[in-house]
Amino acid sequence: MPAPQQFSCEPISGLRQADVVPLLLPLLDLAPDQCRWPYGDGLFVFCGCEVWGSGPYCEPHLSLSQGRGTSSEREAHRVSNKQAA
Ligand SMILES: [Zn+2]
Repeated sequence: MPAPQQFSCEPISGLRQADVVPLLLPLLDLAPDQCRWPYGDGLFVFCGCEVWGSGPYCEPHLSLSQGRGTSSEREAHRVSNKQAA
C-alpha cells in the first residue's frame, strides 16, 4: 500500500505583507546591507533585515516587490542566488 502523498501549502496572507519580522529601523540607523522596505505612515521606519543578494530588500520583501510567483519559481530564484554567491 503506497504511502499517502503529503502536500504543504503556504498561507496566502494578502498583498503587501511579507513573512518577516521587521526591525523597524529609522533611515539613519540602516546599514547598507539592511532591507529598505518602508513601514509606517508619516515617520517612516524600515524593515532592517539582511538584504537578499545585491538588492535593497530582504528575500520576503524582494519577492513581494516582484510578485510572489509560484513556489517552484521562488525555489529556482533561491537556488540561482546560492550558486551566484
Ligand atoms: Zn525586508
